[in-house]
Amino acid sequence: MLRITDLAQLIVQPVLRPGSIAIDATVGNGHDTLWLASAVGPTGHVYGFDIQAQALASARQRLTDYTNVTLFECGHEQLASRLPPDAHRRIAAAMFNLGYLPGGSKDAITQTETTLAALSQALDHLEIGGRASVVLYPGHPGGDEEAAAVQAFVEQLTHPFAATCCRRINADKAPSLILIEKLKC
Ligand code: SAH
Repeated sequence: MLRITDLAQLIVQPVLRPGSIAIDATVGNGHDTLWLASAVGPTGHVYGFDIQAQALASARQRLTDYTNVTLFECGHEQLASRLPPDAHRRIAAAMFNLGYLPGGSKDAITQTETTLAALSQALDHLEIGGRASVVLYPGHPGGDEEAAAVQAFVEQLTHPFAATCCRRINADKAPSLILIEKLKC
């Protein structure tokens, strides 16, 4: 079965090159971080954010072979202030996988207000041609509201952004994937 998180990787993959800069806004156990680090190679860089030390510890174990990753133990809403100047407006891909870490604390669930702040900052810092992906989980308490708010925010984006939504349509409360592209013209 096609997993929505695999689909997220498939849709950002075409914009990643050796030397690209990428963001994993919700590192969790580091699966996307690892994938991004491998895609951008040693000349690229990945900036990762998570508020849970436990999640970052698990991600670090997965990333021991990679020197091109910087992990921040802070909320992704601090994205703009944490990005070094040479990464400003040079982000090729920013990935958000919202909700809570499976098996982790449900206190560390993503929150609508900070998610929207981070997404807005990530879009500002995308390079032209860059892409952001957001996986939304409407199936848990608070997730519905967050998914609706993200969707509403994305729907009002205007040029140069183009937004596309993908969701399994024959399942209840299925997660959805939003892709936002920063168009060249
Ligand atoms: N629900 C997904 C996993 C999401 S993991 C799945 O089933 O695969 C979401 C991660 O976001 C968690 O590790 C959590 O700690 C992190 N998180 C929560 N709030 C955050 C914030 N403000 N900034 C960055 N990461 C955050």
